[in-house]
Amino acid sequence: MTISVLSVASEAWPLVKTGGLADVVGALPAALAPHDIHLTTLLPAYPAVKAKVGRTRRIHVYDDLLGVKARLLAAKVDDHPFFLLDAPALFDREGGPYGDVGGRDWVDNSLRFAALSRAAADLASAVVGKGFDLLHAHDWQAGLAPAYLRYASPQRRGRPVPSLITIHNMAFQGQFAASLFPSLGLPKTAWSVEGVEYYGDVGYLKAGMASATAISTVSPTYAREIRHGEFGMGLEGLVRARAADVHGILNGIDPAIWNPSTDPLIPSRYSPRTLGKREPNRRAVESAFGLDHDEHPLFIVISRLTWQKGMDVLVDCLDALVGMGAKLALLGSGDPALETAFVTASQRHPGRIGVRIGYDEPLSHLLQAGGDAILVPSRFEPCGLTQLYGLAYGCVPVVARTGGLADSVIDANEAALANGVATGIMVDGVSHDALLHALTRTVKLHRDAPLWQSIQKQGMRADFSWTASGARYASVYRDMVKD
Ligand code: ADP
Repeated sequence: MTISVLSVASEAWPLVKTGGLADVVGALPAALAPHDIHLTTLLPAYPAVKAKVGRTRRIHVYDDLLGVKARLLAAKVDDHPFFLLDAPALFDREGGPYGDVGGRDWVDNSLRFAALSRAAADLASAVVGKGFDLLHAHDWQAGLAPAYLRYASPQRRGRPVPSLITIHNMAFQGQFAASLFPSLGLPKTAWSVEGVEYYGDVGYLKAGMASATAISTVSPTYAREIRHGEFGMGLEGLVRARAADVHGILNGIDPAIWNPSTDPLIPSRYSPRTLGKREPNRRAVESAFGLDHDEHPLFIVISRLTWQKGMDVLVDCLDALVGMGAKLALLGSGDPALETAFVTASQRHPGRIGVRIGYDEPLSHLLQAGGDAILVPSRFEPCGLTQLYGLAYGCVPVVARTGGLADSVIDANEAALANGVATGIMVDGVSHDALLHALTRTVKLHRDAPLWQSIQKQGMRADFSWTASGARYASVYRDMVKD
């Protein structure tokens, strides 16, 4: 039986991306198509999205969507169907999806994403259009959609349209003052601990987790970690209460975009059998970042520069990293203090540390294709994609043992090396000493070229395509529709 799914999110590759969420939402339709599951993706019509989609078809006009005028538009991108919520008062502005050019959150984010969620529930429950078998909401920005389905939408066969909420990062919860509640268009019954109320506020992610038929997160280890306070961040009790409905499904990577043997964004394409062809890419990275051309290990970072990503700990290890003879090329942006710290370190170590502050998709491909090892020392990491790209590109991941990092990398300990299964290096506990220890181990392994190449090849052969994870989502969807 064909299943139709409306997937709703605040970003999706190739239309708008600030992080891993976009990669995953963008990849799901192709991952699910072989399972006879048809996804349509609903996004806000940010100006950048409108500029990219080309022709659109108007399918609905709202005179009053939570107080604003809006239109729903239909479009096709790479043969994949999209709906866009075109609400100029909410989305037509300069800046990013969540904040202004200076990085400050939009003050009306609560309303912007409530409107997106309301439109999603309308589409799923056939208030607008023909309806869908299931709604798949991603993160807090779509968190109210399951609540609208539960409390304020027509039912189907005597029950709300089933919904799945995927948590891509528990750290972002969408918590707003209780005074917002009356403007959300939800009935009074929704204001309870079982509904949208969250420590006296309105919680969007909480509302989604309490209202959805099922919950998923993006790795099995993170699904276990969020049962506890340190990772659950206030929602651990709800995760435990709904344990039977919580699934941990590791993200895949899209081989049409992330494949070193076909990647149009890198100067020299290669496969596990032609690792020597990585050399021109390595040279290109060194040139782009003003680094010395030498044989010493080239570490890379492609990351939001934040506490979550352990970037403060890395800053403290930079002098030692250079002391070991290694080099670093870093691409990222985020916390201004961390940006400054990395730039200062690059000035202190010319030729050894190169820093590019900003967001640059093509450069991120080049770094994976030319770097020796990618550093991901996150304090928590729901899935993490850059280590998966690193594995595919022979850029050996050096990762913290947490969340999806723990689920995707096999540490090069003695047993794993002896058995030829090692794919990376684990950092145990994110501290200065632990990271330093991992860096030292990495530099030592890199000196043994045949051993290093065997680790690279093992990672490149590991299968992190969407085949397995697509099948898991398909089975979760089917169970929800069947129930
Ligand atoms: P998160 O979503 O928490 O930021 P992930 O590892 O899941 O982390 O996904 C990050 C995604 O964003 C990857 O596709 C990565 O390549 C990309 N990315 C992060 N920072 C940059 C940057 N400065 N330039 C280009 N791509 C970046």
